[in-house]
Amino acid sequence: MKGIRRTLLLTYFGLYLLNLLVLAAILFYPARYFLPEMLRRLGEGQVWLLLSAALAAVVTTLLVVRKVGSGMTERLSQIAETVERISAGEMTGHTYLGGRDEIGQVAEAVNRMAASLREQVKEISANSNRLETILSTMVEGVIVFNEEGRTVLTNPAAKKMLSKREENWVGRSDLELIRNAELHDKIMIACLGKRVQEHELKTVFPEEKLLSASIVPLKPGEPGKSGVLVVFRDITRLRRLEEIRADFAANVSHEMRTPLTAIRGYAETLLDGAYRDTETAVRFLKIIHRESERLNNLIEDVLMLSQIESGRADMELVPVNVAGLAEEVLESLLDRLSTHKLKLEVSPGLPPVTGDRGLLRQALFNLLDNSLKYTPAYGEITLGAVREEHSIRIYVADNGIGIPLAAQARIFERFYRVDRARSRSLGGTGLGLAIVKHIVEAHHGRLKLESKEGQGTTVSLYIPVYPPDR
Ligand code: ADP
Repeated sequence: MKGIRRTLLLTYFGLYLLNLLVLAAILFYPARYFLPEMLRRLGEGQVWLLLSAALAAVVTTLLVVRKVGSGMTERLSQIAETVERISAGEMTGHTYLGGRDEIGQVAEAVNRMAASLREQVKEISANSNRLETILSTMVEGVIVFNEEGRTVLTNPAAKKMLSKREENWVGRSDLELIRNAELHDKIMIACLGKRVQEHELKTVFPEEKLLSASIVPLKPGEPGKSGVLVVFRDITRLRRLEEIRADFAANVSHEMRTPLTAIRGYAETLLDGAYRDTETAVRFLKIIHRESERLNNLIEDVLMLSQIESGRADMELVPVNVAGLAEEVLESLLDRLSTHKLKLEVSPGLPPVTGDRGLLRQALFNLLDNSLKYTPAYGEITLGAVREEHSIRIYVADNGIGIPLAAQARIFERFYRVDRARSRSLGGTGLGLAIVKHIVEAHHGRLKLESKEGQGTTVSLYIPVYPPDR
């Protein structure tokens, strides 16, 4: 502001001198005649008076200019200070200068500009907060690359998926972060503003994962270069489920083929003339009947499994009395139980469990059916129930052939059998325990298997008591 003050001073002083010169020039010509005469007439004191008056005029001008100049510079300084505060990021910056002159108008414009800046900054920070919240809550991993293929933005999910320890990804290339040549080529193509592409990649650290990546140019169609958005999705579970489903379909068809082949074979032999020998015909018809039973069991088990798994089984969670349930199941197996010794160990006074009566009956039926199948005749089978904290442990124990340790982890998988031929010959579908597992999961319960080869097996179901939150 000193500059302005100096300029004003020089301007005013210059004008003042110019005035003096013009006046002197105008007066000089006539003054030539009367000035000597006048000076002769004036006393020495009067000359000094004149000179002092001239000096006083000069000093007064200087003071006036200084005063006016400093008033202006002060106001301009205030405006400059406000602008500096705003540019330093102090959003409350405001100048309180009044006045209708140009400086007042400038101050008013600065205030308006500051208010509009405040609004814009507020909006920008709200937008960026919104973007950050969206990015950090997304399950998909997001990375944005600039037109040179360098990272400008990432979200936590991307870091988790790609398991990189480096905190700062900004400025790094995709090759540094992901190390996948094919993905890199696709990102480079997208950098040229070309089409949207898809890519699948496997990660191995810290666990094996299958990721699908969508690579999207940010300004598609624009000539030259563009930024690239890459969205990663973890499709490990999805792919695994697809595989399980495909395996299941293949297994079901395979399991169906065996009884169907037998039925067709024996029916054809009968048609070829075997029906004439009554004894043979009866034997064959019995086999056909048994195989069709097996086919029926298989279809029923597959349907039940898919219903529970997809949540389509109309489950009704009600209080179920365990003693009554045990009786019901034993009744349905009465004709088969006569070959074994049965023990019932249901503790008296048990609270009811929270469950679907039909599904729980099915689970107990499957367990007892297995004990009957895999325990030699006259072996011992126990059905019991005890309270354990918030659950009732319902267990089926036998002293049968037991399950080898190596097989115990897989025993609840679909179609897994320790001895395939044995299970088949006993009419097993290989789905019994898989169904039990799904029923227990649908009840928010858990399963426990204890078994020793050659000594016996105990399977326990922990089902929550009723009411559920007790
Ligand atoms: P399956 O229809 O073959 O019985 P499950 O799913 O019910 O199918 O059982 C899977 C396999 O687990 C059986 O094939 C059998 O090898 C083994 N298993 C199940 N329960 C018992 C048990 N109580 N004792 C011995 N082995 C058993």
